[in-house]
Amino acid sequence: MRNPKNTLRTSPSVPAQTPTSKSMSDLALKALLVSESRYRRLFESARDGILLLNADTGQIEDVNPYLIEMLGYTHAEFLGKKLWEVGTFTDIAESQKMFSKIQAEGYVRYGDLPLRTKAGALIAVEFVSNSYDCEGTNVIQCNIRNITERKKTDERIKELAFFDQLTGLPNRLLLQDRLKQAMFASSRSGIFCALLFMDMDNFKNLNDTLGHDKGDALLKQIGQRLTLCVREGDTVARLGGDEFVVVLAGLNADKAEAAKGVKTVVRKMNVALNQPYQIGGALHNSTASMGVTLFKDDLINSDDLMKQADLAMYKSKEAGRNTLRFFDPNMELAVMKRAGMENDLRRAIEEKQFVLHYQAQITGENRITGAEVLLRWQHPQRGMVPPAEFISLAEETGLIQLLGKWVLETACARLVVWADQLEMADLTIAVNVSANQFRQPDFVDQILKILKNTGANPSRLKLELTESLLIHDVEDTVEKMFALKAKGICFSLDDFGTGYSSLSYLKRLPLDQLKIDRSFVRDILTDPNDAAIARTIVALGQSLGLGVIAEGVETEAQRNFLAVSGCHAYQGYFFSQPLPVEGFEKIAQGV
Ligand code: C2E
Ligand code: CA
Ligand code: CA
Repeated sequence: MRNPKNTLRTSPSVPAQTPTSKSMSDLALKALLVSESRYRRLFESARDGILLLNADTGQIEDVNPYLIEMLGYTHAEFLGKKLWEVGTFTDIAESQKMFSKIQAEGYVRYGDLPLRTKAGALIAVEFVSNSYDCEGTNVIQCNIRNITERKKTDERIKELAFFDQLTGLPNRLLLQDRLKQAMFASSRSGIFCALLFMDMDNFKNLNDTLGHDKGDALLKQIGQRLTLCVREGDTVARLGGDEFVVVLAGLNADKAEAAKGVKTVVRKMNVALNQPYQIGGALHNSTASMGVTLFKDDLINSDDLMKQADLAMYKSKEAGRNTLRFFDPNMELAVMKRAGMENDLRRAIEEKQFVLHYQAQITGENRITGAEVLLRWQHPQRGMVPPAEFISLAEETGLIQLLGKWVLETACARLVVWADQLEMADLTIAVNVSANQFRQPDFVDQILKILKNTGANPSRLKLELTESLLIHDVEDTVEKMFALKAKGICFSLDDFGTGYSSLSYLKRLPLDQLKIDRSFVRDILTDPNDAAIARTIVALGQSLGLGVIAEGVETEAQRNFLAVSGCHAYQGYFFSQPLPVEGFEKIAQGV
């Protein structure tokens, strides 16, 4: 324990000895003693460690209880020792240097100094020293604050900010930083680095079917396997979901050699990733699609580099699973073209550059029962653009909402015009509906509103839906279809036979018609499989009480074959091409 006799002599800012002056009154002496005991209390109860050194000898003259508690040495173990003799300053040479600095400069501050406790634990302290003269003795006062907990909190905050919580891998923020470092280093060394984007091929399925816990477990294992495949200076990061990014540093100064290096690492990764994963007692398989871009300078910005790797990854996905693609500038060109097209498409909707062509639907007796409307884009420069070139873009960008609404409004307005014409009044119009149009929560309301606004007869409107659209959320589909069916709207199942035909859902849906896909009709005379499929669809229609129409009928022979198979409704070039409305009206009126 500390020696109480030292109390007066070494307390900070307090005269070391009682004044001897005879002139000092008893009262003054008493006051001094009161103040001395106050300072003593202050010293002893401080919640920071305080250590007093003799500035000349470097010996410790006093330590307060808090420092004793912090470091675990007794008061006696401190007293008379030099800083580096206590064993708490981890580096002897360094602490000697420190003392010289304190001696020379008086005030020194160390924001984060490691100290070792007697028990051997390493703690972090903030160390501030001040020197002053105290009754003729040069005293150095060191204030020592334990910042170990604060440091841990800071590190935890840093971890939260820079690391992915699930896998412990660097997150997007830290990746950005590492990427910039790699770019800077490569620009100086002239050695190529690579940025690799990776997306698991079937993760969404696995996550949906097995649950998120298992999905998380899989992601962790992927992270671990990837980390084992790279070198120390490389970075494996997780962007979120099943997207991982790898920065491979210091590959080669030659681009072809660098690409070879990437392929070697990727091969290693594929071997690691393609091993079965043990999750919740079962084995699962997973593969990855990867895209890579090489870089050797920091002229391009890191965001663009990320876009390049991302783009290459998408190309790799498009090419099939479990593949690798290197970025090439043509990919960017395609994206730019697409972006340009997106702008064009927006403008086209505003400027109403679209028209509908009408393709006749015919029954066995060569009677026109109606038409399917097919979109055409009258592009100011490119001329008539077929839907194959813009529908998927419109779907991806959500522009199909506006476009689809316009198609429906136009078709309904046409029904109203026809309603007053004898030859046309009974004709139906079939409208193609895209999945993301149908999945809008207010899809039913949209249709009913259009019918109301135009005044069209709902029983003349037929909506063509595809199988993939129907199975997405069967409950929602059934509800919407019944709501529309109740108003008299009909439904045709487009491209039938190409999707996920399942009798169980077909039976639940209020369908009116199955449409045999063009691909079966095309080879119906030459491919026995296609002929069998067409016959099966007809039989299915009959057993479910649904009509069957064949699309893409180009020849009489095809028509006859279909007729013999029991299909008596047709659409195709044999009867009529899709025509502008006037053209269609002429043939429907037999002009
Ligand atoms: P779909 O619904 O299967 O439309 C039938 C396609 O087959 C049309 O192509 C039509 O022109 C073509 N076709 C008709 N008869 C024959 C034939 O005898 N032989 C051959 N080889 N082809 C024939 P189109 O107009 O290029 O439309 C392609 C696809 O674009 C449509 O396929 C449909 O999925 C989509 N589409 C067209 N209009 C719209 C629309 O208003 N909304 C939505 N969401 N999609 C549309
Ligand atoms: Ca169609
Ligand atoms: Ca079709």
